[in-house]
Amino acid sequence: MNNLKKNIEKKGTFLDHDILKVDSFLNHQVDIDLVEEMGECFYDHFKNASITKVVTLESSGIAPAYATARRLHVPMLFIKKSEPSTMQAPFSSTVYSFTKQRSYTICMEQNYLTENDRVLFIDDFLANGEAFKGVEQLIEQSHAKIVGVGICIEKRFQKGHSYICGKGYDLLALASIDHIENKKIIWA
Ligand code: 5GP
Repeated sequence: MNNLKKNIEKKGTFLDHDILKVDSFLNHQVDIDLVEEMGECFYDHFKNASITKVVTLESSGIAPAYATARRLHVPMLFIKKSEPSTMQAPFSSTVYSFTKQRSYTICMEQNYLTENDRVLFIDDFLANGEAFKGVEQLIEQSHAKIVGVGICIEKRFQKGHSYICGKGYDLLALASIDHIENKKIIWA
């Protein structure tokens, strides 16, 4: 998606360990028009996949997941990164965060996904695929089926892309970074 790539090149900055900071339009402040365009791209790609639910992990995946779900006319479900006291019967799993360098528990209420659901997972970034693996384990517990994975920005030089494609999932990344040379992005 050219517009997303242009925003990354213009406004993104690299921190240590090849972490891309895009707080000005995706991870803190949200560029609504850009996110709507992302939703349109995900919708175009997955519209014939009979998706019944768009699932994401809070918090930065919520905006693009919402923009996609509203076009597909299905609910958007965001998995939580802590267990609220109101949650009664959660499925849970563990994720190792590459950016925070620590593990945390993710959870969701059991009754929001069933074996009849066809899930599109949307997230802001794909790096080593740890967030995806945690979500995959949660979704397995519900017996729902993951039919697609939509990622705003993938860093293909990390392990997540190969993991997801290796398992045969339909992966669409809107901006795919092959590698970084002296803080300059080389697109895949
Ligand atoms: P993974 O689990 O695939 O290793 O990393 C994905 C998660 O880590 C994303 O949901 C995102 O929150 C965070 N993340 C990974 N790489 C980056 C990055 O370069 N920049 C930002 N802002 N977040 C990242």
